[in-house]
Amino acid sequence: MILNVLEKKQVSKNIFSLILEKPKGFIFYPGQYLDVELPVDDPNGSTRAFTISSSPTENSLMVTTKKGISPFKKFMENIKPGETVSTSHPAGTFTLDETEKAVFIAGGIGITPFRSMIKYVLDQQLKTPIILIYLNSVNNFPFKNELDNWQNKLPNLKIHYVNTTVQGKLDKGKLKIILHTKYLILNTIFYLAGPPGMVDDVEKILLKIEVDPINIRTDRFDGY
Ligand SMILES: Cc1cc2nc3c(=O)[nH]c(=O)nc-3n(C[C@H](O)[C@H](O)[C@H](O)COP(=O)(O)OP(=O)(O)OC[C@H]3O[C@@H](n4cnc5c(N)ncnc54)[C@H](O)[C@@H]3O)c2cc1C
Repeated sequence: MILNVLEKKQVSKNIFSLILEKPKGFIFYPGQYLDVELPVDDPNGSTRAFTISSSPTENSLMVTTKKGISPFKKFMENIKPGETVSTSHPAGTFTLDETEKAVFIAGGIGITPFRSMIKYVLDQQLKTPIILIYLNSVNNFPFKNELDNWQNKLPNLKIHYVNTTVQGKLDKGKLKIILHTKYLILNTIFYLAGPPGMVDDVEKILLKIEVDPINIRTDRFDGY
């Protein structure tokens, strides 16, 4: 698909979003991604996957990324409104099960699928209980203002921000304090998204606290 770039938004110093025109009849599920292809000569190829950080209930599509050092990222940073990008159709099975309690664990830019899912839950007035554990190495958490605002409107959403530089990495002790009860661990789907190393570390902790592997869903952002 060829999509028009409507806007480029600075989310924080190192993070920006591209707002793309949503074609008529475009269907996707919160948590899915697009493969974006750019006309660039890059040793790692000219395509990258980006989660759609907007919700299906919003009027446009959004992808959000960190500034980088690759030719691909340099090109992406210079895209201007009025230009176009080439993308695949939405893909991926890292999507929300609305009927089960959810714990979302995001590592940095891994917040993108959860922004989409939470906005969807809000707009569709779903009752899905959600705990978001948002890990970031700096205090500037992308989308924090929006997330705080949505938390105020959603009694079933609880957000824990963890600055890993100050508070240290997530470990068994911290996770148990956040999750409180065994009941939560037994009857909940855990969704992990972010850099592969972070996802692997958190998955190991979940297995240690006896979360059933069948209840763990992962979205590894290869390339970080
Ligand atoms: C299903 C899926 C969904 C994804 N969703 C997203 C998403 O929503 N958002 C997203 O951003 N990515 C997402 N990714 C990852 C994305 O596809 C890219 O692989 C990733 O953004 C890295 O891009 P890049 O290869 O162009 O490298 P770069 O971003 O240029 O990074 C290359 C390497 O350099 C490091 N680096 C970057 N900047 C610096 C610097 N200033 N100094 C030193 N080192 C640096 C990076 O940490 C990395 O190790 C997703 C991947 C998958 C598989």
